[in-house]
Amino acid sequence: MQLRTVLHRRFRGDGETDFVYVATSAAILGVDAPTGAIVDAFATASGRDDEQWLAEQPDAAQAASSLHDLIDLGVIRPVGEAQAPRAQLPPMPFPLATLVLNVTNKCNLSCTYCYEYGEDRLTAGTGSKGAGKARMEDDTARQSIDFLLRNCGDRPQVSITFFGGETLLNFPAIRTAVEYAEQRATALRKRVHYSLTTNATLLTDEVIDFLTQHRFGITVSIDGDQKEQDRHRTFQKGVGSFATIAPRIQLLVAKNKERKGRSLGARVTLTAGAAPVPDTYRFLTQELGFDEVGFAPVTAGLGRTYALGELGYERLLREFGELAEDYIAAAIRGESHGFANLGDLLRELHQGVNKAHPCGAGLGLLGVSTEGDIGLCHRFVESKDHELGNVATGLDEAARTSFLQRAHVDTKTDCTKCFARPLCAGGCYHEAHVRYGDATKANLHYCEWIRGFVDLGLRSYGRILSRNPRFFARFETS
Ligand code: SF4
Ligand code: SF4
Repeated sequence: MQLRTVLHRRFRGDGETDFVYVATSAAILGVDAPTGAIVDAFATASGRDDEQWLAEQPDAAQAASSLHDLIDLGVIRPVGEAQAPRAQLPPMPFPLATLVLNVTNKCNLSCTYCYEYGEDRLTAGTGSKGAGKARMEDDTARQSIDFLLRNCGDRPQVSITFFGGETLLNFPAIRTAVEYAEQRATALRKRVHYSLTTNATLLTDEVIDFLTQHRFGITVSIDGDQKEQDRHRTFQKGVGSFATIAPRIQLLVAKNKERKGRSLGARVTLTAGAAPVPDTYRFLTQELGFDEVGFAPVTAGLGRTYALGELGYERLLREFGELAEDYIAAAIRGESHGFANLGDLLRELHQGVNKAHPCGAGLGLLGVSTEGDIGLCHRFVESKDHELGNVATGLDEAARTSFLQRAHVDTKTDCTKCFARPLCAGGCYHEAHVRYGDATKANLHYCEWIRGFVDLGLRSYGRILSRNPRFFARFETS
């Protein structure tokens, strides 16, 4: 019988153990040297005849046993084996877990690269519904909570994320939503988690008190030290925002610690010419006191001066690798590290995540516009081409299901041969919309970056697993 390996990636830990990441099942298997050699022997496009191969082995009985183990584990399979059809979608309507409320579409900053106000904004192009109401009204906020609780099935807990524009420009709607959600969730015996993204300019004492009291997960959009922050994140007249936000962030950090709040996150947008990632990480954690830092390459159309070109991605991968060394050293000591990109990837690898869709948008997560219109996520709420109903009148289940079918990873032919598919699944819908005008397309412009980062994650996983496997217990509870 002709046999060959399925789509996989080999990688090495610290020490003797090698690993195989099996892309078809998202399993990670430790392999000793002889087993690894069998995997390599069958990693050919046309496959290899098993009997002929066994006849060449010095210990045929042992080789046959190892080969059959690999067949049972799904690493090696017959050439041309029919694939069991994968379920296109989970049973619909899928219960909601998270609702993202765009409480305002205005911002008091004017960041060069902003997808909301910059040159790549979705609302400015074809398919836009126009600007919409500047602020969400209290009634819409309450209707959104009812909508979430009506559509969350029997989930014991749900999440509400507040977003903008600058989210805190509409603090009254946030307060209304939280107070109403508490009351409704208590009646239904459910728990609600809150989170918010902010540029930190409006973190008054009152706001900080409210957010920490309700244990908000808070993410601050900040690009680094004063020089980094003020390069792109400016007020409308071009004045940098660092001097305004730094003292506010320090107050937030102190109050959050005092109340033993959730981790405070910084989200850095990486543009061409940005400071080295490890330097920015250290500044944000050591000088400003953030617990976690996530880095996001800028979403930019071709030709923007701040866009990361190919060389920018190469540099980024190198710097991610440097910061990963710190993460790995901490993990081997059994300590946490706040490099959020790597932490999230390791969690997904450990949990064997195998995505049919790149993210929860349209599935467990939906976005709501200031006017109550429902979109795939917060980035789509102003787009009439992606509208999925309104919180007052209900969800358009047919449109939701149709989008999810079209966006399934199996429809993205370029992704079928990619080992990063279980984790990437074609990448962000919004980025695909900006780049290709079609949210269901694979983001082929950043494949090298994604594969490089997944490779880094696999190597980091193997090294930690070889030295301190107990580190991963933290990823087993949630
Ligand atoms: S978009 Fe690229 S990296 Fe992502 S799964 Fe598809 S081929 Fe792989
Ligand atoms: S579509 Fe993109 S922006 Fe929206 S939730 Fe998914 S990954 Fe995030």
